[in-house]
Amino acid sequence: MKNLGLKSWLCSCWCPMVTRLSVQKIARMNSYQSTMKFLLAFDFDYTVIDENSDTWIVKCAPEEKLPIGIKSSYKKGHWTEYMGRVFIYLGDNGVKEAEMKRMMTTIPFTTGMTDLLGFIGMNKELFDCIIISDSNTVFIDWILGVGNFHRVFDEVFTNPATFSDTGYLTVQNFHDHSCVECPKNLCKRKVLEEFVDKQLQQGVNYTQIVYIGDGGNDLCPVKFLKKNDIAMPRQGYTLEKLISQMSQDLSPIECSVLVWSSGIEILSYLKILIKE
Ligand SMILES: [Mg+2]
Ligand SMILES: [Zn+2]
Repeated sequence: MKNLGLKSWLCSCWCPMVTRLSVQKIARMNSYQSTMKFLLAFDFDYTVIDENSDTWIVKCAPEEKLPIGIKSSYKKGHWTEYMGRVFIYLGDNGVKEAEMKRMMTTIPFTTGMTDLLGFIGMNKELFDCIIISDSNTVFIDWILGVGNFHRVFDEVFTNPATFSDTGYLTVQNFHDHSCVECPKNLCKRKVLEEFVDKQLQQGVNYTQIVYIGDGGNDLCPVKFLKKNDIAMPRQGYTLEKLISQMSQDLSPIECSVLVWSSGIEILSYLKILIKE
């Protein structure tokens, strides 16, 4: 693991700030927040779990595959609408909620991830933890239930899904946004930005944001991160390649980058972080 120079950051950032502030201001800050707090933002598919939940559900389809007509109907940037058609197909073929849940709860967690989430759960006074995912509320709820991990996460931002009266799973876009880089239903940067703003208004100013992800749609939120934050792209996946392409193009991202291949490596980093 490369040296991230946290000590030097703490000196260069905190000390001057503290000397600039009056005693009253420090007292006011302390009444809001007495300890350092870190924000851990997780992607879900291929990060928390070692699969894509939206493709795993296809195992419930007849012969575990989709008809060509549905497969070829996907239009770039319109994933939620596409999944809506997949869920209608499953419903039309009599696939019920219980069967979907049974299938989805067999998805494996990524190596080391249950240890990592367990550790975070035991240190919630230090870590706020959110999921920002292009999956949906139903799948994530089921899967977090497997490891009893609901309590680890303060909020889950993902496409809202629900079962209709006729037993069909339906899914909607998470929000509207004007980002040209992201799919229509979700800009993870907007989510992160709004969450950090909301927290700031409530007196929570994160010491550092750690963003853990793997995919192309994780680049936009990573570009929001500042010098003292950390992007953690999964080794060998799209996000890592995009970040390294950016530094080759001489437009590197502002934050530090730490590549991971197991949740244990992330856990080791968090242990260092809270000892600083
Ligand atoms: Mg992912
Ligand atoms: Zn975006």
